[in-house]
Amino acid sequence: MITWLISDLHLQPEREDLAQAFTAFVKHTVQDGDKLYILGDFFNAWIGDDEDNPFYLDIIDTLSTLQTRNIQTWFMHGNRDFLVQTAFAERAGVTLLDEPAKIELAGKNVLLMHGDSLCTGDKEYIAFRQQVRNPDWQAGVLSLPLAQRRIMAADLREKSMSMNSNKAEDIMDVTPSEVDRVIMDYNVEILIHGHTHRPARHALANNKERIVLGDWDKQGWYIRASQENIELEAFDIVDGVGT
Ligand code: MN
Repeated sequence: MITWLISDLHLQPEREDLAQAFTAFVKHTVQDGDKLYILGDFFNAWIGDDEDNPFYLDIIDTLSTLQTRNIQTWFMHGNRDFLVQTAFAERAGVTLLDEPAKIELAGKNVLLMHGDSLCTGDKEYIAFRQQVRNPDWQAGVLSLPLAQRRIMAADLREKSMSMNSNKAEDIMDVTPSEVDRVIMDYNVEILIHGHTHRPARHALANNKERIVLGDWDKQGWYIRASQENIELEAFDIVDGVGT
């Protein structure tokens, strides 16, 4: 039995190649009886579980094949798909996973996060995060017509791009003291997260480790954990097929 972890696929109708790569990953890489953790930003944007674009309905179909193959799948929110709720989870056959989540991989205690909350140097973003994670704010947005939410999501993406374009590189990355704090507070040996699009394995003091998943673009990334070891691996996304 293998446990797979992925994040930051940023699935969107404009990137059919990524959807095909994900379908290939589900069909050919993940085996019956394995486990799968999706650590946020699976979608580039999510405007509500009443989403009716066929692109997303196909993805939900793909996800729902996992359950029929006895592949337990957990779904953690990212900073782009925080509006995913239980209706989606039920249709897709996945379990929503609160952040952070503590699990065991290869006999080690591991903490799973999306990673945006680790970037505490970005005060403007942390304030924005607090707003959009507020249940009242979310209920207000979800009460708007779908068409209006589509426009809102596009505006948010533009705002986020212009916000980020004039930020220093280091405040866009995780804050080392915050990484140390969560590892200490949750008493884990390994922290796994995505979000920063800086895939790497970082050895930390006291034999701790931080493993960062990469986003899917020209390459896709996953973590493959067996009973014995945890591997961070990349593969090429070529002409719409993960190889
Ligand atoms: Mn993110």
